[in-house]
Amino acid sequence: MFKRAWSIIVFCFRVATMIAAAGFWILHALRYGQTFLSAWWRVRNMHAGSTVRCSACHQNVETVGRWTCSLCRATYDGSVWRCGRPSCRAVTPYISCNCGHFIDNPFLTEVH
Ligand SMILES: [Zn+2]
Ligand SMILES: [Zn+2]
Repeated sequence: MFKRAWSIIVFCFRVATMIAAAGFWILHALRYGQTFLSAWWRVRNMHAGSTVRCSACHQNVETVGRWTCSLCRATYDGSVWRCGRPSCRAVTPYISCNCGHFIDNPFLTEVH
């Protein structure tokens, strides 16, 4: 009788440990998933290329619009990072934010 009662306590203890371990791993997985998702989201936004974040003032700077290429002087609609004229296709290495801080071309830093 005593033995039986003891085995039930051991069983309960084991279940409790298993639940605690499962909870730990679920929390761990959630945290990992969150980091993974936020990284994926950053990369996805970068490829969409509509805005870029300034590292100094943390403002989103628009990169899609009407730009004048400093090389061929053509005005084009599209991404700031590459000239829209097919015969030019000049790459912009960086742009300047409203706060005066320079923002590197994320497509160039990805290649390196
Ligand atoms: Zn800025
Ligand atoms: Zn150009």
